Amino acid sequence: NSSIRLAQVERHYVQGESRLTILDHADMEIRAGEMVALVAPSGAGKSTLLHIAGLLEKPDGGDVFVNGTSCKGLDDAGRTDMRRSSIGFVYQFHHLLPEFSALENVMLPQMIRGLPRKVAADRARMLLEYMRLGQRVTHRPAELSGGEQQRVAIARAVANNPYVLLADEPTGNLDPLTSNYVFDAMTALVRQSGVAALIATHNHDLAKRMDRAITLRDGKIIDHVLV
Ligand code: ADP
Ligand code: ADP
Repeated sequence: NSSIRLAQVERHYVQGESRLTILDHADMEIRAGEMVALVAPSGAGKSTLLHIAGLLEKPDGGDVFVNGTSCKGLDDAGRTDMRRSSIGFVYQFHHLLPEFSALENVMLPQMIRGLPRKVAADRARMLLEYMRLGQRVTHRPAELSGGEQQRVAIARAVANNPYVLLADEPTGNLDPLTSNYVFDAMTALVRQSGVAALIATHNHDLAKRMDRAITLRDGKIIDHVLV
C-alpha cells in the first residue's frame, strides 16, 4: 500500500529545436511512514519530480497515484482538491504568512478545507506542541528563529493529515545544529503520522539517516547508495 506512486512518468521540456528529457518512463513508490531522501545535483530534475508528485505540474505521460487513487483523469479543480487534502509541502524558505501567528499559520490550511475554527485551532496547537513550539504559538514568523520558522512550516504541511509530505531542502537555510534539530522533529512527526515523506536534500548526513535514498539518472528514478 503505497501512499504515493509514479508510474511510467514522462516529462520533457522543449526549447526551440532541442528537447530535454527530465523523466523518461520513471517509476517511484513511497509507502506510508517511509522517509526517502531525494539526492541529485542541481539541474537533474528534483523540482520537476517534486512538482509532479505534488500535483503542481502535469506529467507529459504516465500517472501519479495518491494513496492508490489515479490522478490522471482529474481536472484542475480535482487536482487542487487532491493536493489540498492529501499532500503537504515544505520549502527551503518557510513561506509563512508574516501577518499571522504561528498558530494561525497552521490553522489556515484547515480553514481553507472548511474545518471549524475550534477544530483547526486545537489541531494546530497540538502539532506546534509536538514540534516543541508550545511557547511560540502567538509569535509571528519574524519573531521566531530560522529553526522555529521551519518547524512551524512542517506543522503547517501536515495540518490536514496528508498522505504525502514533499520537502525541498527543508534544512538548506539552517546551520548544522539547527538542521539536525529540525530534522529530528520532522522525523518524529513522519513516524507518528504515517505520512510518506520525500525529502530533497544536499545534506549527506541527513540523507543517510532516512530509510533510503533515490536519485535521477537518464530520466529514471533509481536507488541511490549513500556511503
Ligand atoms: P533541479 O530542481 O534538480 O535543479 P529542475 O527540475 O528545476 O532541476 O530542472 C531540471 C532541468 O530542466 C534543468 O536543466 C532546467 O533548466 C530544465 N527546466 C526546468 N524547468 C524548465 C522549463 N519550464 N522550461 C525549460 N526547461 C526547464
Ligand atoms: P492554497 O491552498 O494556499 O491556495 P494551493 O492549493 O494552490 O495553495 O497549493 C497547495 C500548496 O502548494 C501550498 O503549500 C502552496 O504553497 C504550494 N504551491 C502552489 N503553487 C506552487 C508552485 N507553482 N510551486 C511550488 N509550490 C506551489
